[in-house]
Amino acid sequence: MADATRDEVRSDTRADGDLRPCERLARAFPSYHAGYCEKYPEKMQALFKKQSPGAMMLSCCDSRTDPALLFSCHPGDLFVHRAIAALVPPLDSPAGACIRAATCYAVESLGVRDLIVLGHTACGGISALVKGVADTPLEDWIRVAEPVLARAKSLHPEACAQELGQVCERLAPVYSLKNLETYPWVARGLKEGRLTIHAWLYSLREGELFEYDTRSETYRPIP
Ligand SMILES: [Zn+2]
Repeated sequence: MADATRDEVRSDTRADGDLRPCERLARAFPSYHAGYCEKYPEKMQALFKKQSPGAMMLSCCDSRTDPALLFSCHPGDLFVHRAIAALVPPLDSPAGACIRAATCYAVESLGVRDLIVLGHTACGGISALVKGVADTPLEDWIRVAEPVLARAKSLHPEACAQELGQVCERLAPVYSLKNLETYPWVARGLKEGRLTIHAWLYSLREGELFEYDTRSETYRPIP
């Protein structure tokens, strides 16, 4: 259902290449309406009354890492929070208000069973972390990941900026996972066995997905 809808959307957007992006988006909406609202009215009405997503994903804002697209989701499947570099701040961080609210709602009210941090390679946020972004609006957010950069430098003191970035891309989802574990609602869910948390890494160039294995402390391919 969704695949056919997206094919139609892609076809439409190619044909409308001269339109402003917002106009292309607006023109694509009827495809969604036809593919879901008209085709599955009962399901959409049920979703109007209540959402019951099984999982929450915390992903980067990057346009190439849309969780709903990557994982073939339908409306209501996935509760999503997106932030640059998919960072989850420490519990007491002033930068974490929105993520605290979103994860608490997902775990306590929606009862999601899985929390997944989705990092990715070629991440502009991680690149900014390594290169520095002083005196820009990004600085307040990206400094959340300073411990990640410090860890990368301690592990690879001779690494160049590009290599440090690659190391940080792999460390950042793990850092976020560790921070998530300290959120009280997450800790409760884990302790009671009704929640699992995961760190995934999407490799843009290869189009491959990996999961961090906490026992071996390495990433393993999915599936
Ligand atoms: Zn990114």
